[in-house]
Amino acid sequence: MIELPVRDPCDLCEVAGREERWAIIDESEHTLTVINPWQFETGQCCVITRRHVATLLDLSREECESILVAAKRVAEALVKAYDPLGILTFQNNGVYSGQETPHFHFHVVPRQAGSDWGIGPPQLATFDGAGRRRGISHDPGGDAQRRTRVQVSAKQLAETADLIRSNLPPLRAA
Ligand SMILES: [Zn+2]
Repeated sequence: MIELPVRDPCDLCEVAGREERWAIIDESEHTLTVINPWQFETGQCCVITRRHVATLLDLSREECESILVAAKRVAEALVKAYDPLGILTFQNNGVYSGQETPHFHFHVVPRQAGSDWGIGPPQLATFDGAGRRRGISHDPGGDAQRRTRVQVSAKQLAETADLIRSNLPPLRAA
């Protein structure tokens, strides 16, 4: 059974209902693309569902399609805005896969040289080259410190969101 994290109230529902529109980069009928408050990489964002659903297993077919379309749109914007070395996408289902908020979110991350993430998402990076040894589980001891380091001001987040938004491809005519 997939154990879900508990967060009450749901922070992503709050983002979706928020008056301040600065956090929202892009939107569609089923999704919102938002700036991630923790900028492990500058420009890191998430595609979230408008509906409060927890995991991939709860999505409708329409939501599945909308999420990947939105992810591709923002990936294109990130490439234009930051000229990254790579685009990492990932999504966690359940606390044992690193999910921290029980509301579906799909990470889209521009990767740059010098990042200390290693090759994958922080909690999953077990490759030799990522500074962790295979078979060694993630030590969360330094996480609080890392989170503090990657938290940026609301002003800086808003500026990052503006830059990405200005690089979105035009919406295709229906
Ligand atoms: Zn929610």
